[in-house]
Amino acid sequence: MQRTLSIVKPDGVNKNLIGEVIRRFEKAGIGVIALKMVHLTKKQAEGFYAVHRQRPFFDSLTTFMCSGPIVPMVLEGKDAIKKVRDIMGATNPKDAAPGTIRKDFADSIESNIVHGSDGPDTAAFEISYFFNATEIFELKG
Ligand code: AMP
Repeated sequence: MQRTLSIVKPDGVNKNLIGEVIRRFEKAGIGVIALKMVHLTKKQAEGFYAVHRQRPFFDSLTTFMCSGPIVPMVLEGKDAIKKVRDIMGATNPKDAAPGTIRKDFADSIESNIVHGSDGPDTAAFEISYFFNATEIFELKG
């Protein structure tokens, strides 16, 4: 079993896609073990995306991520990190495969509906950024 962090970004929340995103993960056998809705400050968004601090899109990305509420969640399942990224599709919706969340709903490389951790170390950092141990649950069966 593997854990990963996903976020329905402000554009996904605005487009009423919270349920659709979760449905696609659950349908693939990936369970939600933690969930909340938060509105990040600019500082909090910058902390989350600290690895991208030197990138040209850092300011725009962090402004976008605090433009409205977001829905971070911890997902658990076999090979969850890769499965979630496959379900999301490529970062740029123009490159995303048919049937992926970003192909179906995203407007641009920045406003791309959903986030998913890109590896085990990133997942551990990102999960702890939003959730403490008492907010993460065990699923039965
Ligand atoms: P990642 O950590 O790979 O999820 O990348 C962070 C986010 O940065 C992506 O999901 C996009 O929303 C955004 N992003 C990545 N590349 C670009 C880019 N070239 N221009 C604008 N935003 C980008």
